[in-house]
Amino acid sequence: MTVGRFAPSPSGRIHLGNILCSLLAWLSARQKGGRVVLRIEDLDTARCPRRYALQMEEDLRWLGLTWDEGPGAEEGRGPYYQSERTALYAAALERLRARGLVYPCFCTRAELHAASAPHREDGQVLYPGTCRRLSPAEAAERARTRPPAMRLRVPEETIAFTDGHMGPYEEDLARECGDFLLRRSDGMFAYQLAVVVDDAAMGVTEVVRGADLLASTPRQLLLYRLLDLPAPSFYHLPLLLTADGRRLSKRNADAGLDALAERCLPEEILGKLAYLAGFHPSAAPASAQALLAEFDWEKVPTGDIRLPEGLFPA
Ligand code: GLU
Repeated sequence: MTVGRFAPSPSGRIHLGNILCSLLAWLSARQKGGRVVLRIEDLDTARCPRRYALQMEEDLRWLGLTWDEGPGAEEGRGPYYQSERTALYAAALERLRARGLVYPCFCTRAELHAASAPHREDGQVLYPGTCRRLSPAEAAERARTRPPAMRLRVPEETIAFTDGHMGPYEEDLARECGDFLLRRSDGMFAYQLAVVVDDAAMGVTEVVRGADLLASTPRQLLLYRLLDLPAPSFYHLPLLLTADGRRLSKRNADAGLDALAERCLPEEILGKLAYLAGFHPSAAPASAQALLAEFDWEKVPTGDIRLPEGLFPA
């Protein structure tokens, strides 16, 4: 049985990019007769207050993007808010630590940026491995004055996989990413660890998400393997850009639902997005249910999609 999911981070009102992603996740799972889980990725509780999560749930319901498991439809694999699942992340971190795969890191953000490490295209810094070389005694000494972050020891290995939409993708983790964070020094667990623990615990078999997370997938595949968890299949969809080519953000009011919900019906929003995504023949209104008959990954472009000026009311 296919199990898909929505995993929004409620740091603001849902925008058209989030809606396109949720629509494709819903269609891809439902078309296979599968189920959909909603998980709220609110690890950063300061940026993701509960009222934004509740608004997001209401927006998804309004759009007709229903879920079988998640807030309001509990099925025993919850809680569905990451902020309430930290014991599971701590247990996974402990399993990795017990196998000698984790070490404490005392580098500050300023030190990391100063260490002339090349920056990846997704803005991540390649970690130069500074604290990997600390002896246990040195690490214990430093931990007296500064709580450490925790990093995964990345093997010298290229991780390759085939994305269901974007095709083959690979990364030499040691060279292109370095030892990555599992927990920050303030105790917040890293997205990379939480997403793997949760997708596995929630029985997710199919991950549909934006192409900005394609580069995270090799790190997650490594964690699935190290934690002996079954990995899902991945489909990364193109990013939606503004007419002038900028990335949509939750602060970008022109693509947010605040204004759109007052001027459009859900079917109008979904029809236009499905048209932009290549599988709906015109921008005519359509419900998610009606789009099931038309959805086809083969028709979805792989390059970024620009929102044409005037397609959505400003
Ligand atoms: N929470 C992430 C976001 O809203 C998505 C994570 C994922 O789909 O793996 O961008």
